[in-house]
Amino acid sequence: MTELRDLYQDLILDHGRAPRNFRRLERADGAAEGYNPLCGDQYRVELALEGDRIRDVAFQGLGCAISKASASLMTTALKGKTRAEGEALFAKFHALLTSDAPDDGSLGKLAVFSGVREFPVRVKCATLPWHTFKAALEGRAEAVSTE
Ligand code: ZN
Repeated sequence: MTELRDLYQDLILDHGRAPRNFRRLERADGAAEGYNPLCGDQYRVELALEGDRIRDVAFQGLGCAISKASASLMTTALKGKTRAEGEALFAKFHALLTSDAPDDGSLGKLAVFSGVREFPVRVKCATLPWHTFKAALEGRAEAVSTE
């Protein structure tokens, strides 16, 4: 278990240091801003849709390693998914971090954040990008705040 945990942490460190899809989209169909005042994490998530599918998703902003790694892994997980699949993934991810729901394997690399649920303050860091993504998907204009 210790080895697994180390591996997971490596993945978070890697994505925190070298975030994927850390850019702006040339043409965004949806965008939202998210802010976690407790930690200072602040992100903008942009997405491009093709019909019902998330063709591209990217983010910008700054925050702690957990929030940045979460945003990075989120973008890699969401690309190519349908809106419904994206929302379902968010629900599963949220359940993983806020309940004792066991990982059934469907979260793939996102399961790396399961250890975060032991640190309630960090849960907000990890879920902020997802709340922001959902706001962008739903076309909500007001900024997302974890407070
Ligand atoms: Zn944070």
